[in-house]
Amino acid sequence: MAVTIRGKGVISGIAVGKIMLAGQNLDGYLVDYKPESLEAETAKAEAALTAVADILSESVERMQKNEDQKEQAAIMEAHRMMVQDPSLHDSIIEQLQETKSAPQAILKAADANASIFEAMDDEYFKARAVDLRDVGKRVAKYVLGVKEPEIGDEKVVLCGQEVEPSVIAGMPTEQIAGVLLGAGSTTAHAVIIAKARAIPTVVGLGDKLEAIADGDHVIVDGETGEVLINPSEAEQASYNEKIKKQQEMAAYYASLKDLPAVTTDGVKTELCANIGSHMDVDNALTYGAEGVGLFRSEFVFMGREDIPNEEDQFKAYKEAIEKCQGRLCVIRTMDIGGDKPLPYLNIPKEENPFLGYRAVRISLQRKDLFLPQLKAILRAGVYGKAAIMVPMVINVAEFKKVKELIEEAKLELNHEDKKYSDSVQVGIMVETPAAAVMTPILAKYVDFFSIGTNDLVQYTLAVDRGNASISYLYNHFNPAVLRLIQRTITSAKENGKWAGMCGEMASDPNAAVLLMAMGINELSMSAPSIPRVKEKLRNISSIKAKEILADVMKMEDGDEIKAYLSKVL
Ligand code: PEP
Ligand code: MG
Repeated sequence: MAVTIRGKGVISGIAVGKIMLAGQNLDGYLVDYKPESLEAETAKAEAALTAVADILSESVERMQKNEDQKEQAAIMEAHRMMVQDPSLHDSIIEQLQETKSAPQAILKAADANASIFEAMDDEYFKARAVDLRDVGKRVAKYVLGVKEPEIGDEKVVLCGQEVEPSVIAGMPTEQIAGVLLGAGSTTAHAVIIAKARAIPTVVGLGDKLEAIADGDHVIVDGETGEVLINPSEAEQASYNEKIKKQQEMAAYYASLKDLPAVTTDGVKTELCANIGSHMDVDNALTYGAEGVGLFRSEFVFMGREDIPNEEDQFKAYKEAIEKCQGRLCVIRTMDIGGDKPLPYLNIPKEENPFLGYRAVRISLQRKDLFLPQLKAILRAGVYGKAAIMVPMVINVAEFKKVKELIEEAKLELNHEDKKYSDSVQVGIMVETPAAAVMTPILAKYVDFFSIGTNDLVQYTLAVDRGNASISYLYNHFNPAVLRLIQRTITSAKENGKWAGMCGEMASDPNAAVLLMAMGINELSMSAPSIPRVKEKLRNISSIKAKEILADVMKMEDGDEIKAYLSKVL
């Protein structure tokens, strides 16, 4: 019997392969390294920075040509920018005074910069520390002359407490069977890349990874989170059946790409994709996305030294809108602040960042940031079908203010003689209980609602969305949450507006059935989730779904609802 360990399955699928431990240890190389004069070490560090930037540029160019490598291209481009960031260069020069060794100084400088990210509360920014250390290691390896590990014919399962994004991004999909992470972050770039490539992934394995050695054979179940180390032949055989089913499923999903998400009695739900960059659109369309339901524009603001100006933003939005080829592209205005501080915004540390200065609250106080963003979206709207979506709204007044500012942005554009679209829809994210309760009134002002369950669940249930110790309470089927969702959809309908959802709940196929029965018009999710949701909706009638919904709305407990849906669907 194989040793079995269990973590959290985050990307489903069965993977069979040989363990390749990521995170090469450089200690031995560093001991053997003989530094020269300070000038020579400085020159070596600078030459390595240039060389690695060039290598990354070449990789980006190569990856951009390949449809399914667009996401990696974006991440490698971010790495290139980190390598060329003057602050990294300056910190290396500073560290050289102390260490006198180019590779040591590079690693220390990257580590110091990474610690700044690590100290932030937000998961996303914490995960960027991994990227910075990865970049530092890559540059140090260049100076040390360390080669990347060789990969044989057998597919590998990448494994480490943290897998460096460059390792996974630099390997062709066909070579990676699965990913195992000790860390629990689902927003780590390694996980983002694995998700875009649909590579089975298990996270949160922690110390259990000690049971795994380089070269071990493993079976990874990305659904259950189970990892079998060196399975017996019998165990392998029992998984072969599952693998065959999985391959059949993948082929079936691919055949659904151009089919609508329509129930057996003709009720259609629009399935769209959530994106973080214009570079994600092509990939989303390959999964059959019918548009973009959420473009998280704060990604345009991140990974840079200063505020992107109107022109920079216009280019990013225009490209996304054009790539949508006439399909709707919903651009959310920046959802930054509090828990996601942008270093250049100098937002003071807060006691309760999730309840603090964030999203639309910043936008309304910082016209200097908000107006250029609104102008950029309105201008980009000329190139297709765009919508503006406002995050974290809690009352009617905020939305009215936003509408006034949109008018002001149009006036400015008129004065500047710049073309813009007059048919850009304007809606809000319903992600606070206050907004959900007020939807009968808000619906008179907005063009649409998009329900952001990631936040709506945390604010309704008073459960921090990132706190693992209370994650058992974080359930989108909680009756209180379901009532707020139902109310939002009904309010939209009664006022002739459309309602969608862009929180993670939309990617849960069982939830999709309930939402369709409630009358939702659109569901937006990470692109690889689209086929599973579509398949579920195409195989049920709206009448049956409404019966299930009626049963669910009589239930008193979220866990009971979840279990009931798993049984009947
Ligand atoms: C949400 O809150 O559901 C949402 C989609 O926004 P984010 O996850 O970016 O907060
Ligand atoms: Mg949110």
